[in-house]
Amino acid sequence: MRVLIVEDEPNLRQQLSNTLEGAGYAVDLASDGEEGHFLGSTEQYDAIILDLGLPEVDGLTVLDRWRREGKATPVLVLTARDSWSDKVAGLDAGADDYVAKPFQTEELIARLRALIRRASGNASAELTAGDIRLDTRSGKVTKAGDPVKLTAQEYKLLSYLLHHKGKVVSRTELIEHIYDQDFDRDSNTIEVFVTRIRKKLGADVITTIRGLGYSLDEPDAPPAA
Ligand code: CA
Repeated sequence: MRVLIVEDEPNLRQQLSNTLEGAGYAVDLASDGEEGHFLGSTEQYDAIILDLGLPEVDGLTVLDRWRREGKATPVLVLTARDSWSDKVAGLDAGADDYVAKPFQTEELIARLRALIRRASGNASAELTAGDIRLDTRSGKVTKAGDPVKLTAQEYKLLSYLLHHKGKVVSRTELIEHIYDQDFDRDSNTIEVFVTRIRKKLGADVITTIRGLGYSLDEPDAPPAA
């Protein structure tokens, strides 16, 4: 899952970035409204964290522009403390949720997870396919109850496919959602990650759809006894 943070306060921006990267997200950063608007319009994000008080273009205007452009990416706005008018204005402009400053990072991440989950139609924080479970809160993956260690990139790829279980996901889409902007994107590495995930979780966990991409399906239920 890939997230954009638009925040002009350098310490907060970096702290959020570190925390989200640590939690398994690919993260892009923007420090003003103009850059933030551009990235949000041209790149593919699973969610955006948007400060409202920004230089160049303010956050509400940025949000309003995205919505007018038809960008439906979930947006969580950061509002000034106790400013109810900010919250109302943010929600009216098309925000999906808000967190008031100062906030606990844990709360912000929980809200972000919920936004991403809802946007992909998943009600539970635990994503499953057959006997494979991925807990989006702890970042832990198990197969038949046994913990499985994945690298950061393997986790990002599996998490994206699990969020979109049953759909065919192209290589391009995977690249757009598991790498940040600065990453040297090589589509061949996707196949390498898929091979490694299959080795760790079972050969049938990810199906290759020739010419289209990959799909993670619920394995057929065992026949009833
Ligand atoms: Ca600000």
